[in-house]
Amino acid sequence: MEKVLVSSCLAGNKVRYNASCLSIPDQDWDWLNSNVEMVVFCPEVSGGLPTPRAPAEIINGKGVDVVKGFAHVVGNDGVDVTEPFLLGAQKTLEICQQHGIKYAILAEGSPSCGSSKIYDGTFSGNKIEGFGVTTAVLTSEGIKVFSQHTVKMLKIALETDN
Ligand code: SF4
Repeated sequence: MEKVLVSSCLAGNKVRYNASCLSIPDQDWDWLNSNVEMVVFCPEVSGGLPTPRAPAEIINGKGVDVVKGFAHVVGNDGVDVTEPFLLGAQKTLEICQQHGIKYAILAEGSPSCGSSKIYDGTFSGNKIEGFGVTTAVLTSEGIKVFSQHTVKMLKIALETDN
């Protein structure tokens, strides 16, 4: 059975910055449970950040810019959390490599896990197109990243790739 990395918060674990969780639509969750082996992981917690923690956004860039050293991740308390974000992304990649994981379902909008939209760094609720830090690292290694809103695309990828 194909192994798929899943954001821990999407699996119901209360690991988000505000100690809450998110979810995957029931029908998609049932499909994942029956058709893939889920490996549940949280990049930010693995990078050493506490829960709860200050909400963070990427300032002046996107995940790929953080990886290249051109942008930083900063909490709304002003603390620079770039290093734990990068460490968490690296640990997530290592988990994927250990398990032979080629696909991920990660939480949309997160500065780590976002795969389509992230917040724009102004803490004003505005979103821009782009990857979070972990998504940038995983996709650079050929791992296909989807979100809780695009599980259907994972199904298609699994059918066409295998
Ligand atoms: Fe969820 Fe990813 Fe944020 Fe962890 S880093 S709480 S898995 S969105």
